[in-house]
Amino acid sequence: MPTITGYELFAVPPRLLYLRVETDEGLVGWGEPTGGGHSSIVRTAIEALMENFVVGEDALAIEDLWQQLYYGGFFHGGPILMSAISGIDQALYDLKGKHYDLPVYELLGGKARDRLRVSQFIGGDQALDATDIAADVVEAGVTAVKANAASRIRSIDTPAKVAAIADDLAALRATVGDDVDLAVDLHGRVSRSMAPRVCEALEPLDPAFVEEPIHPEYNDYLPELRRQTSVPLATGERVYTPNAFRRMLERGGVDVVQPSVSRAGGITGLDKIGQLAAAHDTSLAPHSPTGPVAYAASLHVGVAAPQTLFQQQPLDALDGHGRNIFDDLTLGDPFTFDDGFAGIPDGPGLGVEVDEGELRERSQTDAGFRFPVWRHEDGSVARW
Ligand SMILES: [Mg+2]
Repeated sequence: MPTITGYELFAVPPRLLYLRVETDEGLVGWGEPTGGGHSSIVRTAIEALMENFVVGEDALAIEDLWQQLYYGGFFHGGPILMSAISGIDQALYDLKGKHYDLPVYELLGGKARDRLRVSQFIGGDQALDATDIAADVVEAGVTAVKANAASRIRSIDTPAKVAAIADDLAALRATVGDDVDLAVDLHGRVSRSMAPRVCEALEPLDPAFVEEPIHPEYNDYLPELRRQTSVPLATGERVYTPNAFRRMLERGGVDVVQPSVSRAGGITGLDKIGQLAAAHDTSLAPHSPTGPVAYAASLHVGVAAPQTLFQQQPLDALDGHGRNIFDDLTLGDPFTFDDGFAGIPDGPGLGVEVDEGELRERSQTDAGFRFPVWRHEDGSVARW
């Protein structure tokens, strides 16, 4: 039985955090707990949880440790604690796979598909910003594209504002054509009052789904919104526990759930949510994992889950200093992309060898991430 003996944390630009966990048998497992900008707080949470529950324990007892981490602190859930649990859980799965010399997907029941379709986020706080990028990624073989499509919008806004959102998406649709899935992220910026009007305006453009059509704190209004529009609705990057997804799925109104492997309880959490989604005939589209360890973790769950739609692929992600996150932080070439599909790393554990030297070096530079503050014309805070 391998026992957890120690751990180390690395914060690197732009806003990534890596957890290295070691056992008495010399095995090393990696986790990537956040991409959400709260790395310094999550780091402190991981230190507390590792010291309280994990160090000195059986490295293979993943579910038991997950239950301890979740319920043991008495106050549970939320983005900070769940990000911390996510990183620890990924590292435990990496260790267990290496211990048994199996890729993680084999520990989850094996592959439910040969390869995993990927989507590409093309940015753009308005879709028009992103038409050139959209043309490039479709040319490269991507068959599902996602763009932001609403910037600042008032709680009640004008027909011109709604038309501008639809016009931007129309330009994007004209660029990618009708053979590509085009998903729209409203980023929780639209009010409950405006969401039906925005969704109605997008209907003629047949988006694959509209993501965060309302702020996730108002997700209990999703069934009402879904009755008013034909567009599929997606949400979940800011929903943090399997039980919260269970409540959302039972209420209905959501077509695609988007938990993040770095914020919803790691591989254990994503696996539970994927099973819950399938039980409600709802698709799973794991949300963007920011760096290579989380991306690998997400691929392993996605390929094993019953109803995965596609997985967001961030292989070209840069760190804010122009340095690539994926190629530079890993050794070898664990990630492949061909004809719209990602290959699954099939080495033991997560199948990713972290370039520890590069990681140590980058951890010496200030991650430097600051959240932007958006304001409306009257000076009040707008949802970013
Ligand atoms: Mg989003």
